Amino acid sequence: MKIQSIRGVKDILPGEIEKWQWVEKIARNVFHKYGFKEIRLPIFEKTQLFSRSIGEATDIVEKEMYTFTDRSGEQITLRPEGTASVVRAYIEHKMYNPPSVVKVYYLGPMFRYERPQAGRFRQFYQIGIEAMGTDNPVIDAEVMTLLVEFFRQLGLKDVELQINSLGCVDCRPKYREVLKTAIQGHLDELCENCNQRYERNPLRVLDCKVERDRQIAKDLPKTCDHLCETCKTNFTQVQTLLDSTETPYSLSPLLVRGLDYYSRTTFEVVSTGLGAQNAICGGGRYDSLVEEFEGPSTPCFGFALGMERLISVIPFEGKNYSESRPDIFIVSLGDEAKSRSFKLAHQLRKEGFTVDQDYDGGSMKSQMRKANKSLSRFALIVGENEIAAGIYLMKDMEAGSQEEVPAENFIPTLKDRLTTPKNNT
Ligand SMILES: [Zn+2]
Ligand SMILES: [Zn+2]
Repeated sequence: MKIQSIRGVKDILPGEIEKWQWVEKIARNVFHKYGFKEIRLPIFEKTQLFSRSIGEATDIVEKEMYTFTDRSGEQITLRPEGTASVVRAYIEHKMYNPPSVVKVYYLGPMFRYERPQAGRFRQFYQIGIEAMGTDNPVIDAEVMTLLVEFFRQLGLKDVELQINSLGCVDCRPKYREVLKTAIQGHLDELCENCNQRYERNPLRVLDCKVERDRQIAKDLPKTCDHLCETCKTNFTQVQTLLDSTETPYSLSPLLVRGLDYYSRTTFEVVSTGLGAQNAICGGGRYDSLVEEFEGPSTPCFGFALGMERLISVIPFEGKNYSESRPDIFIVSLGDEAKSRSFKLAHQLRKEGFTVDQDYDGGSMKSQMRKANKSLSRFALIVGENEIAAGIYLMKDMEAGSQEEVPAENFIPTLKDRLTTPKNNT
């Protein structure tokens, strides 16, 4: 019986995984520079954690969660996102003690039962950041700057940071009423979803994707025109800070977030390549979630981005992202050479080189083909004659040249060849 993978999930094979590792390495690097530390969270949690944080009346909770009862009768859910677990861990481990700003990042798989389609998976991967414990606009600006820097290091050019402010618990309810009144006159023109949103979550009408609704949304009252004085000052500060680092951004008054716990700064990074506007990352401020889970008042700012989409927009051509490329591939001819090369490979690895070798003892030609395929920088040819003469034959796979190297001098020579820039003579 042939067993295949589950619909909507995929393997990431060698050849592709190097791209992921490269992105993850740059992510860690940039995040560490900004003082973020990794938090590694469980892949499953109690179902309640997600239903309460994401909200019962959302697509994720109603239709998309992988929920099951474990052997002790507990309701368990495979995490559909990362923020809820970070908040749970923050409270559980009293990370607010002593009081400070806690800056963490996570990366790993998330699970949602969505209709499989191009680029959308039921096990998908996210990278996310949460900065917890301050409502200082410096953190808003810092996290968005970090993100722009991350994308710059990935070589992404056509991306745009779009920001908006959603107001706070004081000004948003008032705005919500103003918005509802304005929407009321358009209900028969708006799509069915928006008619439902009107009651439950009128802000979502602003980011409806239906073209006709988008035209209507343009003329509806905007959050940023209904901010209280504190929120207005706060939003101006965020912009001044972004300006001071010359971080490019644009104001996007129709940008809202689906969940009630979001407040003030909200943002998206949009890929503008190929004409289409695709959000590759979204995030913002959420100041009430920790309290909702009975933690102390903890304003937070964060984002999450999907790895699949990110990788699909990175220009990998001509980038040296692969780390699995060997320094040297050992080609051995004859039994004595075989056992010699096994020992040699071990020595070389201890010296810090990346080494691969042939295992099947084919002809010189077929072994060299394998060396080629491994993308090794050098090939080392070990034959009976070479052993007798106390030399190895080292071939530069890029230049095509080869040289004889005395066996006892081999390691320093290889070190030298790998570090000296090639000259073209
Ligand atoms: Zn406000
Ligand atoms: Zn609509």
